[in-house]
Amino acid sequence: METGVTVEKAIEIACQSPLSKLTEIKLLDEAIDRILATDLISKVNDPRFDNSSMDGWAVNSEDCLTMNTKLKIKGVSKAGQLEKISIERGEACKIMTGAPIPNGANAIVMVEDTNINDNVVSINGPARVDYIRKKGENIKKGQVTMFSGTLINSSAISLAATMGHDRLEVISKPKIAIISNGDELIQPGLSLSDGQIYESNSFGISALIKKMGGEPIRFNAVQDSLEGLRNALNSAVLTCDAVITSGGVSMGDWDLVRKIMEDEGDIKFWRVLMRPGGPPLFGKWKNKPLFALPGNPVSSHVVFTMLVAPWMSQSLGMHPEYGPKLADRVSVILQQPLKGAPNKLCLRRIRITNQNGKLIAKTHTHQGSGNIHSMLVHNAISLLPPDTDAIEGDQIEALWFR
Ligand code: AMP
Ligand code: MG
Repeated sequence: METGVTVEKAIEIACQSPLSKLTEIKLLDEAIDRILATDLISKVNDPRFDNSSMDGWAVNSEDCLTMNTKLKIKGVSKAGQLEKISIERGEACKIMTGAPIPNGANAIVMVEDTNINDNVVSINGPARVDYIRKKGENIKKGQVTMFSGTLINSSAISLAATMGHDRLEVISKPKIAIISNGDELIQPGLSLSDGQIYESNSFGISALIKKMGGEPIRFNAVQDSLEGLRNALNSAVLTCDAVITSGGVSMGDWDLVRKIMEDEGDIKFWRVLMRPGGPPLFGKWKNKPLFALPGNPVSSHVVFTMLVAPWMSQSLGMHPEYGPKLADRVSVILQQPLKGAPNKLCLRRIRITNQNGKLIAKTHTHQGSGNIHSMLVHNAISLLPPDTDAIEGDQIEALWFR
């Protein structure tokens, strides 16, 4: 077991015990918000054939070098038409958006720039070659346009259909158990007695797991008892691929997650050099990966963001750019001093706003790790290096929540 590791080292150690990447097939209508499990190749060219981007007239541009040219009308080309039309010099073919370009035509005149008189069309505007959408100019047949690990959004679904795919291979959602522990925790909606508080972490962690492409399985909070914890952990590993616990992992007399993992589990690391969120532990319970997150609500969110999300991403081969992400790394200019932490990466809650094209940041509320309201009021966390205080005007790195 390693203690007091950096965030990078913690992720590296956790990734030695990855989630297994399993896949399943989903019809396009069921694929939204899933993660693509393979690179996707186009079965067709897009466009499939040269076609018009305008309603107008297909012409030979050489015929339209002067204004008011008169061309003989030769047929109509509409989208979906099978018959192929040809024009000769001095002729024009009426054409609709998306319709194939007739043989002999190399430009389009917009319908607004023309007049019809009997069997003759007068051309009063430019004949433009760039109103022709060329075969394969968007996507070539056989081209990879979507990478394995991409989060499937509505555009990805349209693109997959454009390329001829009616179903997609996606990553199966790993089932992740969430077990909160603490005698004080009561399910929201019930009434509280003295000394009790509402249990909130399992709900927040559940939402984070969903955002990262997993399926959360929330267990009822367990009391501070070794037997209760043991039972919950044993039943979690029977049905789930990994376990996240909340609370009971630091130095208190009742921090029993740490104790049971020491005595009966297999700890890979304990304590990470960050603030807030110092006490987390990673290990295995009955050979399934287990993250023990601190109970303080801000800490549990921050540790999920810093450790659990990257572990899920790397385990499941999510694309660094197009995969699911909780936050984007940005540089911001501080509008106030920000105190760092001795020997630890300091993750202060900050609010980023865009002022005249510059990202500026400041803090608004009390920063205590018990204050979950601070996570809503702010929209980012600082990445202040260990032993670094920042002053007003300093440029620092931050994670901007999506
Ligand atoms: P612990 O890590 O168990 O020492 O808990 C640290 C702090 O977080 C205490 O104030 C707990 O009451 C609080 N806490 C622990 N678990 C939860 C939870 N699931 N929801 C809300 N607060 C919690
Ligand atoms: Mg506790």
